[in-house]
Amino acid sequence: MSDPIPFIDLQAQRAKIGAAIDEAIARVLEHGRFILGPEVTAFEEQLAAETGVSHVVSCANGTDALQLGLRALDIGPGDAVFVPAFTFAATAETVCLVGATPVFVDIERDSYNLDPASLDDAIAATTANGTLRPAGIIPVDLFGNPANYPMIQVIADKHELWVFADAAQSMGAQLDKTSTGAFGRLAATSFFPAKPLGAYGDGGAILTNDGTLAAALRSLRMHGQGRDKYDNVTIGTNSRLDTVQAAILIEKLSILSTEIDARQSVAARYSDALADIADVPVIANGAISAWAQYTIRVPGRDQLQKNLKEQGIPTAIYYPNPLPQLTAYKGYPVAPSGIPVSSSVAQEVISLPMHPYLNAATQDRIIKAVRAAANAA
Ligand SMILES: *Cc1c(COP(=O)(O)O)cnc(C)c1O
Repeated sequence: MSDPIPFIDLQAQRAKIGAAIDEAIARVLEHGRFILGPEVTAFEEQLAAETGVSHVVSCANGTDALQLGLRALDIGPGDAVFVPAFTFAATAETVCLVGATPVFVDIERDSYNLDPASLDDAIAATTANGTLRPAGIIPVDLFGNPANYPMIQVIADKHELWVFADAAQSMGAQLDKTSTGAFGRLAATSFFPAKPLGAYGDGGAILTNDGTLAAALRSLRMHGQGRDKYDNVTIGTNSRLDTVQAAILIEKLSILSTEIDARQSVAARYSDALADIADVPVIANGAISAWAQYTIRVPGRDQLQKNLKEQGIPTAIYYPNPLPQLTAYKGYPVAPSGIPVSSSVAQEVISLPMHPYLNAATQDRIIKAVRAAANAA
C-alpha cells in the first residue's frame, strides 16, 4: 500500500504560512491580551472588508454564532424556524436551544441546498396550522456551495420572515460577486480547523449589515453587558474568539482567496475525471463554491468507502442521515411533501479528499482508485 493520503492537509498549509502564524502567536504571547485583544478587532475588521459586510462580531464557535444570532433576533418559544433537513446538526440544534421549533425543509438534488418549493410549502403549512409563528429561514451553504439566496429572499419577503445564513462551510464563496456571509439579515460562520477558513481550535463569527443587531451581539457574547462590564442589561453568555485564534485567522484570511482559487482547480479536475461514473457537484451559474467538501453520489457508496480505505484513501460521509431521522429531531415538523431528496442523497453521498494543496499526482491516485472501484461494482 502506498502512503496514506490526508483528507484535509493542514500541514501543507503550514509549509506555506507556518512561520508567519508562529510569529503571530508569539506576538500575542508577548502582549498577553488573551481575551478580546487587538487581533480580535483587527480580524473582525478584515473579515468585514473581505466579505463586504458592515459588522463582524466574533465568538467562540459556529454553534454559538447561530445561537447568539437567534437570541439577537429575539427568537424563542412559539417561533418556527425553517431549516434544511440535510445539514450539520448545529443548524437545527441552536433553534431548539433558544426554545423555538425547527421545521425541516427538503433540499435540491443538484445543489444540496434548501429547495425553494419545499420551503414555500412548509411556510404555508405552518401558517395554516396556526400553532407556531413562522419567524425566519436558516439556509445553509452546504459543502461551501452558496444557497439560492435571491429566490429564498423573495419567499422570505412574501411571508415577512428574516433570512439568517448558516455560512459555516462557505467562507470564501460567492454568488453573483457577493460573498456568502453578506446575504440575509445576518450570517453565522465557523472557524473550526477543517472549515475553508479554519483556526487552530474553535472559533466563529456573525456577519451583518445591521448595526443594532451587531451591538446586541457584542453585548450577548459578554454576559449581556451594557455600558460597561458590570452593567448587565440582558441575559448573555461567555462566547468570545480567543486572541491567539484571531491572530492565526488574520494570517489564514490573507491567503483565503488564493486557496479558494486552488480549490476550484482541484474540484474541476475531479469533476472532469469522474462525471461519467458518478453524480458530480453542480454549481449554479454565477456561484463560486468554497469547496469545503467535494461530494459525489454513487450507488454502493459504502462498498466504495471500504474499498478506498483499504488503499489508504480517506473519505467521509456528510451526512449519513437527514436530521429528522435522528433520535433527537424525530418529533419536529417537516415540509408537507416530506424530505424525499434528503433521504435519498444521504444513502449515496461520499466526500473525497479536498484541500487547496492536493497535488495532481495524489489526486490522480484517488481518481484512479474511485474509477476502478466503480467499474468493479
Ligand atoms: C461546522 C458547522 C456548524 C458549527 O460550527 P462549530 O464551529 O463546529 O460550532 C454549523 N453549521 C454547519 C453547516 C457546519 O458545517
